[in-house]
Amino acid sequence: MTTPISEGAPSGAVRPHRVLVLNSGSSSVKYQLLDMHGHARLATGLIERIGEKTSRLTHTPRPGDGGEPRTRSGPIADHDEALKAAAGELAADGLGLDSPELAAIGHRVVHGGLRFTEPTVVTDEVLTEIERLVPLAPLHNPANITGIRTAHGLRPDLPQVAVFDTAFHTTMPESAARYAIDADTADAHRIRRYGFHGTSHAYVSRRTAELLGRPPEDVNVIVLHLGNGASASAVAGGRCVDTSMGLTPLEGLVMGTRSGDIDPAVIFHLKRVAGMSTDEIDVLLNRRSGLVGLCGDNDMREIRRRVDEGDERAALAFDIYIHRLKKYIGAYAAVLGRVDAVVFTAGVGENSAPVREAAIAGLAELGPVVDGDLNAVRSREPRLISPDHARVAVAVVPTDEELEIAEQTFALVGRSGTPSGQAGPPLGQADN
Ligand code: AMP
Repeated sequence: MTTPISEGAPSGAVRPHRVLVLNSGSSSVKYQLLDMHGHARLATGLIERIGEKTSRLTHTPRPGDGGEPRTRSGPIADHDEALKAAAGELAADGLGLDSPELAAIGHRVVHGGLRFTEPTVVTDEVLTEIERLVPLAPLHNPANITGIRTAHGLRPDLPQVAVFDTAFHTTMPESAARYAIDADTADAHRIRRYGFHGTSHAYVSRRTAELLGRPPEDVNVIVLHLGNGASASAVAGGRCVDTSMGLTPLEGLVMGTRSGDIDPAVIFHLKRVAGMSTDEIDVLLNRRSGLVGLCGDNDMREIRRRVDEGDERAALAFDIYIHRLKKYIGAYAAVLGRVDAVVFTAGVGENSAPVREAAIAGLAELGPVVDGDLNAVRSREPRLISPDHARVAVAVVPTDEELEIAEQTFALVGRSGTPSGQAGPPLGQADN
């Protein structure tokens, strides 16, 4: 039997208060160890090119507090070896996974379908459900499952908690979540809008309410998560009511390499007229479109440099990116009825003042206005970039998906010491 963590600790022992967050991709693992007392980051790491000869592990103890990154190169065969290497680095800093201070391991899981609306302690039954969702996230869920199994192998007594990218969006009303296609076909194949980046949208919308000094229940926010992948969400009183990504992350905004919204007939046309295969079109729309397809670059810094030098392709790519962004801001203003803040986050949103300025330019009638001086400030802190008189605040709130995963994980297992509201025996304890 798994010992509930609070019962396992002898009286007077330190209550477990650390969470290891794992983000397992198909060939990479990102990890962070957080101390939930004060939210200190004890270590971060990235293992890249797993399964290749040129794998690389970069481990940073006490990031942001003078910790020097350590890098190791050489083959790392699989996720098991990768996690063991990470555990070795953590142990070298006195932060080994055998520590009684570790409360749980929190995993980013991309697709939770309709079933997982909350962070969930992983049981065998939960793992089976995550597997059942693989057809909806064929690149991501298998890697997430591997990460969970591997972490469980290293610390079988610890709760493994799955935090789903889709969970925050499960509050979307059917009117926003359903596509207008034959309902039976949609239901038979679980086709609907799920949305992604939910952990970021949840974190950023909550922090925006804090920035405004109001409870999340009272605040309506449009969140623009603009990274290499990009999505917008409309959040009413802390609940997502619409988001721009759909069945997959392809829908919505123009992204680094994805087209975002497109007439689906383009796909038929490419098949019939250009003779492209389904897989070729998949690659075209997901990897060779968006900013990179339009101008050859997907890094906004490079695009802005080219725009400033008078490059017309880069300028058109930038304009198309901004045009789509404005359309979503307008649409979500209409969906929400009243908007208290438009907030920018992720790599582009946090760093690109020209994107923020251009996206909000001309929207004064709707309410949001950007102050040029405030917009030019570079900072890691959440901040307002609108003048005091603006009817709708404009904010920059750096996202922190790892912290959100850690907080959700700790809230589930850390305080009471036992996971609440979970059905079924813990991972590895069931018969099936
Ligand atoms: P993310 O996916 O959130 O890590 O964002 C990555 C993207 O952020 C990159 O592809 C760049 O386009 C963008 N980015 C990062 N730093 C900057 C910066 N200083 N200025 C403009 N864009 C940036």
